[in-house]
Formats: sequence, C-alpha cells, structure tokens
Amino acid sequence: MSNKKLNITLLFILTSFAVIIFSFYSTKIWSEKKEEITATHNLLFKTEMTLEEVSKKNKIPSKVILSAFQFTSPSKLTLTLGETGMSLEQAKVKIVKRFALYEENQTKNWFKIPLKFLLWFGFMFIVYRELKNRTMTPKRRKIYYILGFIIFGIILGADPSPMGTVKDAITLYGEKHVFFAPRMVALVIFLLTVFLVNKMICSWGCQFGAVQDFIFRLNRNKKDSRGIIKQYKIPFTLTNGFRIAFFITFTILAFMIPFDIVSAIDPFKMFKPQFLTIFGSIFLTIMLVSSLFIYRPWCHLFCPFGLTGWIVEKFSWFKIQVDYDKCDGCLACEKACPSFAMEGILRQEQTIPDCFACGSCIEICPDNAISLSVGKRTAPPKDHFKK
Ligand code: SF4
Ligand code: SF4
Repeated sequence: MSNKKLNITLLFILTSFAVIIFSFYSTKIWSEKKEEITATHNLLFKTEMTLEEVSKKNKIPSKVILSAFQFTSPSKLTLTLGETGMSLEQAKVKIVKRFALYEENQTKNWFKIPLKFLLWFGFMFIVYRELKNRTMTPKRRKIYYILGFIIFGIILGADPSPMGTVKDAITLYGEKHVFFAPRMVALVIFLLTVFLVNKMICSWGCQFGAVQDFIFRLNRNKKDSRGIIKQYKIPFTLTNGFRIAFFITFTILAFMIPFDIVSAIDPFKMFKPQFLTIFGSIFLTIMLVSSLFIYRPWCHLFCPFGLTGWIVEKFSWFKIQVDYDKCDGCLACEKACPSFAMEGILRQEQTIPDCFACGSCIEICPDNAISLSVGKRTAPPKDHFKK
C-alpha cells in the first residue's frame, strides 16, 4: 500500500472513531432525555377505567389526561372513560394524541435547540461569504467540514438535524396522527435555508453530511479535483430512483404498521452511539467506508431530507451559475464536481442532480466563470462545448 493510501486509511479510521468516542461522552454530558415516545400498543384503555386509573396504569401524567378532554378540575379524574361522553375509541385517540405531543416535548432540550439554530445561521453565513468571494480552498473546506461535524454533531448532538425533522414528522403522523408544531417550524426553517442558498444546510451544517463530505475529501488530490484511490459517480437516475423508492417504502411502513425503517439504519446515531444496534453499526460502517469512494452515499440514496431538499433546490434563490461569456468549455468543473450536478448545470439538462454548494467547481474554473449568485440559469450557446 502506498504512503498516500495508508494515510487516507489511517485518517479515515481516526476520524470515524474520534467522532463516535467523543459523541459518546458528549451525549453523557448533555444527559440526553428519553429517546423514543411510548408506542400506542403499550397503552391500556377500558370503558370502565377511571381517568385516574388510565393515568396510573399507562404512566401518563394526570394533567395530560385532563387536557385531552379539556377538563380543568382534577375532580374529573374520577370519571370513567365511558362517562366522558365519547366512545372508547374516540377517548383513546384523544389521550394518545395529547400524550404523544407531551412526550415529544419532554424529549427536547429547549436550551440546545435554539442555540444550535443560531450557530447554524452564523456558520452558514461565514461559509457563504467564502463561496461568494471565491476564497474557499480545499484546505479550508476540510476545516469547515471538521467544524461542522464537531459543533453540530459531537458537541450539539444528533438532534435536531434536517433529516430528523422529515423522518420524525412522518413517523409521528403515521403512528399518532399528530404534528409536533416545533418540529414543523424547524422543517420550514431548514427548507427556507435551501430556498435561500441551495442545500447550504446539507453541505455545511448537517452533522452527518459534513462527516461524509470530509471522508470523501480525505481521498482527493491536493487540488480537490479527483480521487487518490479511484472514486465513482453513480448515475443520478439510479440514486434518485432508489431514494424515491426508499422514501415511499418508509412512508408506507410508517403509516401501515407503523414501523420506522429509517430509525433502524439511522447513521445520525453516530452522534449518540449508545443507541446504535449491531445492524445499525454495520450499516453505518458501510456508509462511512463508501463515502471514501462515492459522494455522500446516505444523502443520495436514503435521506428523506435529501429528496425533499432536492425538490426545493429547484427554486433556490442563490445557486451555482455559469457565465458562458467567460466559460471556454474546458470542462474542468464537470470533472472536479464530486457528482453529476455540474454536468447537469453546465449543460442545463432537464434533471439536475443535488448540488451541495461545495464550491469545488468555483475553485477549479480557470476563467472565473462559475459563481454562487442570484438569477435564473441560462442554457449554454449552441455547440459551446465542441470548441
Ligand atoms: S441529504 Fe445529507 S446532508 Fe442533507 S440532511 Fe440528509 S444526510 Fe444531511
Ligand atoms: S456543481 Fe458540483 S462542484 Fe459545484 S457546488 Fe455543486 S456539487 Fe459542488
């Protein structure tokens, strides 16, 4: 094995273990709250049970039971479910929904979440300035990715994440038929960031996105233009087709069974390793190792936010643009782009793959023809690439 390959392997192992070990201790320091909310089938309801009995038997706080029926007086706890004026099924649905929202609220750290969003905005703004001013370099990119996964993953934890907002919204609605309002607000904010600057949150702010990108860049030459050990670009129709099929399967399972298939393989558990199962660890290892050779495998093949963001990205305000008056058609950007995104942008193909606003194309262009700017993309002049 050459020295370069050995270095890549060692750095890869070091990064992966360091993230897992530090995350383990960080999670302990934060003393993470309860992870999962109680499954509906674990709850017991009978017409003759008083509200107090329902509360005690199911470990549901009595205030939650009272609020489910909009009762204010604790004396109502002596009523049986049959005396609430509802059928058993209606009463059960009311309690289950209210309890789900209560538990969701209890699982959140309301100090950490706003802090994380504040830091996300600041961090993305700094990176945006680098891209806009063309000052991003391969070395700086790696530093930003390291900062990305240290701050938003190791220190501030796996939750929230762009991926988690989509996943949890679907699973909660699938099982309990409720939306948790703060999560919907978070999802809207994430999507607004995509709308503002395409996939900026995925590229730089998402904790697992940053890990994958950093690992991919470990295996790149000094100019960050190609892999040292061969890297592969999988056709977008294949990856996106798989991602859509996975999203549909995940949604159907969440509504029908309900079963959270994403949770079983969730690679964000890298930042809370005590929740990793054996199967989850094997899957995570596959994702990490393949990140050396394929650009962001989880984002392109599985991530529910990856798919949602890819749709919103079509309407992004700031995005990668090509000035064909300056472009001499050398295709350096297309080769340096870690995916087929630049090929789609450059030739204005009908389907443009996810662009992660990494800026590799901006950096490599010898004519300064590529920028992260506002406006509608234009098509290249006819025969532009045949010069
Ligand atoms: S697409 Fe990738 S970067 Fe974006 S939320 Fe999913 S895992 Fe994170
Ligand atoms: S087109 Fe490719 S190289 Fe350019 S910013 Fe997007 S993903 Fe990166």
